[in-house]
This record gives sequence, C-alpha cells and structure tokens, in this order.
Amino acid sequence: MEVFKGIPVSPGVVIGKVFTIDDERRRIPRRSAPKNRIKREHERVTEALEGSIAELQALRERAEKSLGAEAAKIFAFHIGLLQDSSLIDPIHKRIDEEQVTAEYAVSQEFHRLAGLFSEMSEGAFRTKVDDVWDLDRRVLRHLIGEHMEELSDLPYQAVVVARDLTPSQTASFERDKVIGFATDAGGRTSHTAIVARALNIPAVVGLETITLSSYDGAPVIIDGDRGVVILNPDQETLDQHRVYIERMRVFQLSLSEVADLPAETTDGVRIELYGNIEFPDEIETVLANGGDGIGLFRTEFLYLTSEIEPSEDEQFEAYKRCVELLGGKPLTIRTFDLGSDKQTQSRSEAPERNPALGCRSIRYCLQNLPMFKRQLRAILRASVLGPMKVMFPLVTNPLELRQARMVLHDVMEDLQEEGIEYDTNLRVGMMIETPAAAVMAGVFAREVDFFSIGSNDLVQYTLAVDRTNERVASLYSAAHPAVTKLIKEVVRSARRHNVPCSICGEAAGEIEFTMLLIGLGLRTLSVTPSVIPSIKQVIRSVDVKQCERLARRVGSFDSERQVTAFLREQTRAIIPEAFDGRTVE
Ligand code: PEP
Ligand code: MG
Repeated sequence: MEVFKGIPVSPGVVIGKVFTIDDERRRIPRRSAPKNRIKREHERVTEALEGSIAELQALRERAEKSLGAEAAKIFAFHIGLLQDSSLIDPIHKRIDEEQVTAEYAVSQEFHRLAGLFSEMSEGAFRTKVDDVWDLDRRVLRHLIGEHMEELSDLPYQAVVVARDLTPSQTASFERDKVIGFATDAGGRTSHTAIVARALNIPAVVGLETITLSSYDGAPVIIDGDRGVVILNPDQETLDQHRVYIERMRVFQLSLSEVADLPAETTDGVRIELYGNIEFPDEIETVLANGGDGIGLFRTEFLYLTSEIEPSEDEQFEAYKRCVELLGGKPLTIRTFDLGSDKQTQSRSEAPERNPALGCRSIRYCLQNLPMFKRQLRAILRASVLGPMKVMFPLVTNPLELRQARMVLHDVMEDLQEEGIEYDTNLRVGMMIETPAAAVMAGVFAREVDFFSIGSNDLVQYTLAVDRTNERVASLYSAAHPAVTKLIKEVVRSARRHNVPCSICGEAAGEIEFTMLLIGLGLRTLSVTPSVIPSIKQVIRSVDVKQCERLARRVGSFDSERQVTAFLREQTRAIIPEAFDGRTVE
C-alpha cells in the first residue's frame, strides 16, 4: 500500500482501478508493467512502429508528387531509422530487462539516440537531432492514442492517473467510464480541476510522483475530500473507506431535501445562488440541486473540446439550449476566456513565455476580432429567447472595456441592418479578476451593468501564485487578507454605484467562505453545481448580523492561516457532517 498526499480539487471518495495516460509532449515517466503485460508491451511497440512507418510512406509519396524525389528523401531517412535494429532491439530489451511500459522504453531509446547525434562533431549529424524528436513524437502518438482508445473498452471503471490533463482531455472522458482523477501536476483552480468538479468526479491533483508508481489495473482509492490517493490499499483501509462512502451517501441524501427550499438566511435575507457551467447539459444538475440560474457559463469549453472554433450557428444552438433548459431562469454568458491554461489546439503550437500574463481572455478576443464577433452575434441572436446577460473576462483597463463594448455595438448594428432580432437592453458586465480591476472598481462601475468577482484569478494575480502550479499550491488561498480586502472594496464600490455584484470563483462554492462572503455584503453567489445544496444549507443556518460580525473579525486578522482556521471552526459548528474525516492517513 502506498499513500500519496495532494490537493483535493473535486470532492467524493471512490474505489477503482488505475488507467494511466501519458501526454506525448511531456517527459514520459518511468512506469513498470506487470509481468502479464510484457508480451502486450512488445506488440504495442511493433504496432506503433508499423503505424508510424505507414504514415511516413504515405507522406513520402505525397511529397514526391508535389516536391520531387529529392525533397522526399527526408522521409527515407525517417523510415530507415524506424526499421533499424539498432533502435528497435534496445527498445524490446529494455521492456524485458526493466519491465517497463512501451511508452517509457520508446522515449528512453529516442533520448539516447538524440544524445548520440548531438555529440557528433559532424554538423550534418547534429541537425538530425530534430528528426529524432520528430519521430519520437510520432511513435508516442501512436502508443498513447491507442492507449486512450482502450479507455472506452475497459472492462472496469477507471481512475485516470496522469502527469497532467488538459481541460479538453478531462472534458472528453465518458462519465460512466471514468470515476476519478489523480495527477502529478495542477492546482485547486486549474481548469482541469474545475471540469472534474463539473463532472462530479472525485479528483486529487499536485501528487507530484503518483505516475511513477501507477500501472494499469492497480487498485486505488481516490479521496477527493482530503486530497489523499492510496495505491494498492490493504483490506482494512478498503473497509474503512467503504463505510465512509456509505456515510457520505446518506449525508448527500439529507441535503437533497434542501434543494427545493429558498436560499434564505434565518433573518429572511434572500441570497441568489447560481451555478457555474462549462457545458449546457450541466444546467439539469444546477436546477435539480435548487440553483436559481446560471451565473457563469464558461463558453470557451465549447471551443476547447473540439479541434476548431465552433461556428456561429453551433454557438447559437448551445446558448439556445441553455435558455430552453433554464425555462425562464437567468443565464450569464461569459465571452471566450481563452489563453493561459485554456489553450486551443491551434495555439498550443505557439506557446507564450508567461501565458497567465499574456494574450488571454478579453485581450485575446480583441486581437481576434472575427472570432469575437462570431461569438457576440450568436449571443445576441439567442438573447431574445430568454433572460440573458453577457460579461467580459479579465478586463484590466477601461479602454479594453470600451473597445469590447464598441465591438458589441458594431455587431448589434450589423444585426439590425440584417433585420435580425436581439435584446436591445442586454445587460453587459465584466469580471473583476485582477487587483487592477478591483482597485478601479469605482471607475468601471460607471461603464458596466454588473460585476462578477472571479476569485480564482483574483487570488492568482494578487498573491502572484500560479493557480495551476502544484509547487506553490500551499500559497494559493482566497483566505489571504489581501484578497478578502480587495473583495470587500469591490462590494463597497459596487454598492456605492448601485451596480449588482456577484462572485463566481471557486471560493464562492467552499462552505467555509459562505458566511464571510455574506458578511462582506455579497448577496449573489455562483458556484459549482454539485455544491449548491451544501452552500444553501449554510445560508439557511445563519443570519446576516452573525455573518457581518464574522467578517469584521476576519478583517482583524493579518495571516491567511488565522483566517482559514477561524472560518473552518465557525463552519464546522454549523454543519459538522461536512467535516467528518477518516482516520486513515
Ligand atoms: C475566476 O477566475 O474566478 C473565474 C471564475 O474564471 P475562471 O476560473 O474560468 O478563470
Ligand atoms: Mg478567471
């Protein structure tokens, strides 16, 4: 039995079997293959090499026709190398001697080969290093792609173990095949984590070395409540976790009774409780859990799950479906928040040195106007179908906001000329996600209809902590006094200017923060759909005065630790069941 500690990003406990996924662009971890898999690993190498050679032959023929025989020679070198026994034999030998996976053996041998070429004094040989990496990627793509396909045919429900997962990989898993995630990399609010929560799949990230010990089929427990992963658990541990799973099932059931009751404090103050979604279908969960509507639709996921930008009509259909599912309840659409850790296929080829500070969100949209306009057209066309608002992500200066509004205005004019209907009163808001926007909330308030505080990014930019980096995950916290002060300022400015203000970052969905947020003056929270009942439970157990007292006390603390401990203690007093931990460490 091996116990790994990481960051819990999606709650729940599951018991299953490991399915490993390696990303071809990253270093392939050393992973052992159990004895009964060795024969299959040899076959996989042969199949991947044959598949790659067939591809290269087709490429050679095409190049010969379009560029001539000379240019096509480059492929002859590639094909020759993949047939060379000085490459193939050591791969098989490594699998036998070290009992490792095909992926690992292949990547190690390509590394060795690249090293040999780069050491050669002859310049012509040194240039071959790039060819070797090219081939390495090609062969690994076969191995990994084939492995991914096996996922849908698995005879068991899988816990996916990977170094890291992209948001689109996570979003593409079939819910009835994958019951949990565990990754080496990642932070609490990485988009992979957010998708795991949306899919309601327990997940732990930031485990650093879990991939090294995992192999396909290994029994595993994912404890998404405490951030623990147990590989090859012993019988006693298994039994303890089975009991816990049953106890939590009963607790969740008790919460379902809350779904139909209003999110109202004991002194009668109504809190609007909305859901955050990545896909229209999640609306069903939001409504079943008693949500009042959608406070954040992360539309970029429409883009991230496909290779190409969704067309205007495809987007229109998605927004229309949301409105229909909501049956009159409000929808807040956020325009594409692409960039940073949400890269599209086409952009992953041109990485930025510092993507979180780079061309992302509204900046990206303003630099890609045709795409931005297509989205705005789709939103406007759908705006007549039901109550809808639109907001822009990561606005940092008023000029940006004005530009975005101008583009929206242009699109409205186009639609008018074409005789297409849209909501001429469409409410336009912005997200407050940077200290710049928070400090200048008073200025922005004159130019928008509403604010939505994006605490995930606000924490990242205020504390200078990458939200996706497991090495600094312990420094990432919305309980830092700098963050709570900024939230307080934004809420105040919004009140002063009569601008509605909500919060939609992950902090809004953590029960420890509910009282604080109400105490700071927030009356609208938008959260991960699955946590709506427990947040509602907290709301229905407290009064506003009590929350304001708590917020004042929090304001007197000067360390994140004090705030966290205090909030936890106060919340535990209200719903102790949610804090029920296991004894297994
Ligand atoms: C946020 O930053 O808090 C937010 C809600 O946006 P996202 O998590 O999609 O960046
Ligand atoms: Mg954000």
